[in-house]
Amino acid sequence: MLETDRLIAQLPLKRHIAGNLNTLLEVALDIQEMRVDLAASLRWAVRLGLHEGVDNHFSMAVPGDDGVMRGDRFLINPLGWHWSEITASSLVLCNADGEVLEGENEVEDTAFYIHSRVHLGCPSATVAMHTHQPHATALTLLDGGRLEMCEQNALMFDDRIAYDDDYDGLALGVDEGDRLARKMGNCSLMIMASHGVMAVGPSVAECFNDLYYLERAAQFQILARSTGARMRTIAQTVRDRVKQQMGIERVKVADRHFKALRRILDREEPEYRN
Ligand SMILES: [Zn+2]
Repeated sequence: MLETDRLIAQLPLKRHIAGNLNTLLEVALDIQEMRVDLAASLRWAVRLGLHEGVDNHFSMAVPGDDGVMRGDRFLINPLGWHWSEITASSLVLCNADGEVLEGENEVEDTAFYIHSRVHLGCPSATVAMHTHQPHATALTLLDGGRLEMCEQNALMFDDRIAYDDDYDGLALGVDEGDRLARKMGNCSLMIMASHGVMAVGPSVAECFNDLYYLERAAQFQILARSTGARMRTIAQTVRDRVKQQMGIERVKVADRHFKALRRILDREEPEYRN
């Protein structure tokens, strides 16, 4: 033990202060890593064509200064910035009252009303990503549109999707955010009729991986449907088996995928980390 640590250990008050400083430092480092992950996911969403104009938002709840996660403060991409311009430091840190705690930028109103209420209302929503990604959104335009469990990528989402069939205009109040949070419940994804999709989860890697594979699965189904031919079905016993197989692998696959995406950005657009 270092001499200074030994002295601090003998003094209860100083040990308490040192403990708080360590917590503050750890929280600050964690939040910085969250900023970098979120910036990376936004830049990759552009590369994959999941973005739309300067709209839509990716957000991540962060812990308070005491290290406790309450869902009442979160990072989010700023108003008016194209996702390809986002850097770690350009993300806004705001609280559940809409106050900007860190950053020069502003938060768009609908983004605040959706994301703040989802972080508070859905226990699994550390991360929340909302897009109008083209193929998944195309599914939301079909009457009774569902992602059919007829193909391997789609099976990743078996029993993990909530469907909101009650489009009710722009989210300009907490009531609409609360309604969406209730619809999401314990699911990982929500397909929002006549609008778009939302993914929630414990990490940027898992949420982004879900959005990526959802778009691929939806693209396959839109292409298959466009032929007019009858779609295949997969037996329930096979669905059950694949669900079990995918459940074990999903987090590892997401982690490997996102690490690879980060490596590419580190080489080609390293300024995203700034
Ligand atoms: Zn939207």
